[in-house]
Amino acid sequence: MPRDSKLAQKDCIFCKIAAGQIPCIKIYEDKNILAFLDIGPVSDGHTLIVPKEHYTKVEDSKPEVLSAVAAVLPKITAAVAAATGADGYNVLCNNGRAAGQLVEHLHFHIIPRKTGDGVFNHWPAFKYPQGKAEKIAEAIRAKL
Ligand code: 5GP
Ligand code: ZN
Repeated sequence: MPRDSKLAQKDCIFCKIAAGQIPCIKIYEDKNILAFLDIGPVSDGHTLIVPKEHYTKVEDSKPEVLSAVAAVLPKITAAVAAATGADGYNVLCNNGRAAGQLVEHLHFHIIPRKTGDGVFNHWPAFKYPQGKAEKIAEAIRAKL
């Protein structure tokens, strides 16, 4: 990780929102965290939780920053779900372009869901062939 990656990035839209240079519809703010409505919602109340420090992905982030996000998740998810009358919600964090990350500043989507709303209808689950899961798990453990 570059040493300055946590500093505000000049061209980062979420750094500018966190610094108050670009407006947002704010839901919650504390020393470390800002939560605001997504400008292109998937459902009413779609909220983004953003650490104020700039990190790109989960793997680059200080554990303290992820803890600060985790600390506010219960109350923000509960409020979003209650206010929108959601039957459920997704907490989603896209990491990397291949995973759908367009804004390269760590953020967590809270997406209110209604039963049968059809959002994320396609979940391409499959079964591992014999022995493959064990091999993949071994490769992952070797990288820890
Ligand atoms: P990603 O695909 O990177 O996980 O999601 C980025 C999200 O940020 C998108 O859902 C997009 O609508 C939202 N977004 C991008 N620019 C802005 C902005 O300037 N203001 C707000 N409120 N949301 C934004
Ligand atoms: Zn940023």
